[in-house]
Amino acid sequence: MDITFIGAARTVTGSLHLIEYNDKKILLECGMYQGHREEAERINQTFPFKPKDIKAVILSHAHIDHSGNLPNLVKRGFNGPIFCTPATKDIASLLLLDSAKIQEYDIKHLNKRLREKGLPQKEPLYEVEDAEHTLKYFSPKQYRDPFEPIPGLTITLYDAGHILGSSIILLETEETRLLFSGDLGRKSMPIIKDPTVLKDIDYLILESTYGGRDHKTFAGMIDECRQIINEGKRKRSKIIIPAFAVERTQLLVTMLKTLYDDGTLKDMPVYVDSPLASDVTEVFRDHPECFDKETYQIFAKGDPFNFPGLHYVADSEESKALNSQAGPMVIMSASGMCEGGRVVHHLIHCIENENNIIVITGFQARGTLGRKILEGADKVYIFNDGFKVRAKVYFMGGLSAHADGNDLVEYVQKTQTGKLKKVFLIHGDIEEAFALQNRLQNTLHIDTDIPQSMTTVSV
Ligand SMILES: [Zn+2]
Ligand SMILES: [Zn+2]
Repeated sequence: MDITFIGAARTVTGSLHLIEYNDKKILLECGMYQGHREEAERINQTFPFKPKDIKAVILSHAHIDHSGNLPNLVKRGFNGPIFCTPATKDIASLLLLDSAKIQEYDIKHLNKRLREKGLPQKEPLYEVEDAEHTLKYFSPKQYRDPFEPIPGLTITLYDAGHILGSSIILLETEETRLLFSGDLGRKSMPIIKDPTVLKDIDYLILESTYGGRDHKTFAGMIDECRQIINEGKRKRSKIIIPAFAVERTQLLVTMLKTLYDDGTLKDMPVYVDSPLASDVTEVFRDHPECFDKETYQIFAKGDPFNFPGLHYVADSEESKALNSQAGPMVIMSASGMCEGGRVVHHLIHCIENENNIIVITGFQARGTLGRKILEGADKVYIFNDGFKVRAKVYFMGGLSAHADGNDLVEYVQKTQTGKLKKVFLIHGDIEEAFALQNRLQNTLHIDTDIPQSMTTVSV
């Protein structure tokens, strides 16, 4: 079996790997590279293979950096099955349509600027129609249900514990057991099951997003959240929580449900103001088979994603009406890095008032508005207008959906049965991957490689 690492090699985004076996080709993922426009355009537009030669795609989970270039692959001739879990199919359906809409919108604005400068017009990577067409190729497979996308190569999906429907992918031939981690989650996080540990692996392709860092534990997060809510009550704050639409919003809702049940949230309404997050929450309700025992038990009695005082905001009129409403209240909204979506409007209205609170709940990429707020900027620019940051800013660092350095080392250790020949680190910036490589080589004595893009290895 040959593996060519193409995307998410020495970087976190654009996951894409080519597997060749008996002259047949399949892909592990087809993610979108997210970054500066021209670079992203160049990387996403060109595939170093013929899309129509690919027999199948195996998708670990729905996040756009893993699934987001599928419509482009189909547009360029791929017409095989896209295998993933049923929950991944349902979330990817929402995310791919959303992504297509964003690209249509972006290209319209870019083309307007290009026209004004007399420059040639550009095409979007794909449009809504392409995304809709792509959904027809999705072929759901349950966890632990082996299938053979090409003769002699068996694939089985197991829980990755990262987001709903996420899987680690086991590839087996007569000679080799290769495990692809996708994005690996953390143990003991609410809602979904823990990552599955598999033994007797020959080769492991492992993500390294946080290879050199450790997260706060989740255990203290409910208390941190309770303190913030109580402060908000005293100051009659609007508490703005930018949150990713997938997993983070649902996780926060279950945490706030706990705080409703213990009386902390009494008389304080909570608004989930993101149509995408509301739709994704609906998908969560459709897939209790992905829940851990605790969430499943709550689900058996009622809705884990609802409590009195929680409102899923539907239309933009209702969203705008929140601006004139007095606090205290909690508004959870996307995008998670404050780069777009309704959260931006809530920030415009709330950021200059010292009684308000902004709670950052996840990773903020360099250059994003969320990162500037998190790093304590006095003034930020939103739609070209300057705003003084007077609201109090908190960071809840224990909510990450990714394994940290310790988790990754522990995972390899558990997988290791003396058989493991090599670990390939992907999906991490080089300094994170180096840190993890050092730990794996020095403490576990495992041969560890950080392949560059377009490296091919035979296993
Ligand atoms: Zn992910
Ligand atoms: Zn990822």
